[in-house]
Amino acid sequence: MTNLAATISVLQPHPGLFAYYDGRIPGKRLHGAHDNWLDDGAYKLGIATYALVSGKEAIVYDTHTSLDHARAVRDHLESLGVSRITVVLSHWHTDHIAGNAVFADCEIIANRLTAAAMETNRRKLENGDPPISPVVMPTRLFEGQLSLSLGGRAVELMQFDIHSADGTVLWLPDSGILLAGDTVEDTITYVSEPDFLTKHIEELARLGALPIRHLLPDHGDKTRIAEGGYGTELIHANSRYLQRLLSRIDEPGLSDIPLHTFIADHIAAGAVLYFEPYEDVHRKNIAAIRRAMNTSP
Ligand SMILES: [Zn+2]
Repeated sequence: MTNLAATISVLQPHPGLFAYYDGRIPGKRLHGAHDNWLDDGAYKLGIATYALVSGKEAIVYDTHTSLDHARAVRDHLESLGVSRITVVLSHWHTDHIAGNAVFADCEIIANRLTAAAMETNRRKLENGDPPISPVVMPTRLFEGQLSLSLGGRAVELMQFDIHSADGTVLWLPDSGILLAGDTVEDTITYVSEPDFLTKHIEELARLGALPIRHLLPDHGDKTRIAEGGYGTELIHANSRYLQRLLSRIDEPGLSDIPLHTFIADHIAAGAVLYFEPYEDVHRKNIAAIRRAMNTSP
């Protein structure tokens, strides 16, 4: 069997914080040429999951895209001497929970909506392409906010309704580091719940009010993540993108305008780093919103 995690890189954006980055490799796919969540929702766009380490303890934020990836994360942590792992799930989507089984002996924390969505979508996850089997459920649930600590350092889990209703971000108040999950992405947010974009925009404003110094998304630029992450400009750019989409959604020629033109000002300002495969995400976003609004031609 080929190791799906053969191209994973271990980055260290900040002391004691590791990023496990894979994807954005031109011409390389993991699961075949056909449209599938592993390639088109994660590997093609690039994906990073994270681990915060202190001595023998670690908090793993998302379990990555496959069991091979999750094993690579766990092997790395064990090579550092970590023996106690707590997992936190950013939300219920495939590419963030596919490795849960590798951490089945650990505490797995998620908010109540994440657990409910995993339960509701269990068959879909188990029969997906590729399948996630078994679906390993969270073992500890919270609602709204949960305070943890690691090596005496405060770690806050905070729930946000952005991208999906069940978002959990991990906030380190001592250093202003935010692990953002899929609440923001570079180049643009992926619209998965088009009926709730107004709510997402409100919640992006609440997220942007945190005194964030280093923002680390799950889907972003490898070099930028390796060098410590983004600033809040990424939150504002994602929010302005959604506002612009909503205000122009009835424009007949909208889907003919390429993303790099649609957000040319954000790219020029350096708020986002343009990555071409997000053109496809942009087209899908427009189609999803139009379907939801029932305005498809
Ligand atoms: Zn994702």
